[in-house]
Amino acid sequence: MIKVNRGPEPKNLVTIRISHLSRIRNLGRPPKSDDIYGYEIVAETLWKAQHHKCCYCEHRIVKSYNDVEHYRPKTNADRSPGCNLKHGYWWLAYTWENLLFACPSCNRSHKRSFFPLENGSSSLIAESLPPSNEIPLLIDPGSSINPVEHIKFVFENQHWCAKARNESTFGEKSIEIYGLNHQDLKELRKDHYETILKPQIDAINIALSDNDMMALKKEFRRALDMLTPRNAFVCFNYDVFSEKILELQKITDLLQLPWPNPDQI
Ligand SMILES: [Zn+2]
Repeated sequence: MIKVNRGPEPKNLVTIRISHLSRIRNLGRPPKSDDIYGYEIVAETLWKAQHHKCCYCEHRIVKSYNDVEHYRPKTNADRSPGCNLKHGYWWLAYTWENLLFACPSCNRSHKRSFFPLENGSSSLIAESLPPSNEIPLLIDPGSSINPVEHIKFVFENQHWCAKARNESTFGEKSIEIYGLNHQDLKELRKDHYETILKPQIDAINIALSDNDMMALKKEFRRALDMLTPRNAFVCFNYDVFSEKILELQKITDLLQLPWPNPDQI
């Protein structure tokens, strides 16, 4: 997971929000899932803003069959351990800052209606805007929190696994709720490592051992480019390169090309 930059709110979402929230308020009861629709109009904008990736697991997805996702769930929310209230955030169902684009594995199979809050945190009341006194334990990739500062990848038991960086509570809970160690994702990361990352790491390490500065610069720049948002699995790329490029500090000194810290990804 990396930060998502949505860009400006699409104008048509404003129109949709006004008309649909008016309809929902007139229901005279809490809305059900089927009552909340129309926000899908921003699917393509979000998909493109996220470089055709799921906002949580960062694997590439097509627009069809994938979901406009509500960071704060729209109809029901399981806020344990922080709060027992179960109401959804229907009034934020058409709010640009609450919308993301996610794959069914992250959204429907794992996150579902879970929205854990910190112990002692209170929930937003209807029609109020975040954050108020609400402290979610899930990382919102569209917020100012940088997911890379909270989640890292380490190799264990034959797979690259997501772990909390610096024992981050946000990282730990987000990995669990978004299902970032789901078996399918581990397989995708393994394949990505073997076909994309390992050849790049080998090219850098060989150039260094051959003392071939031109090749080293070219290959190291390529690795740096693979940390830009348009690539798949950027957060994963960062930790694999950080661990597997031999003498990383020596290379950055030689080339005068700094390696970023997690907060710079
Ligand atoms: Zn996903």
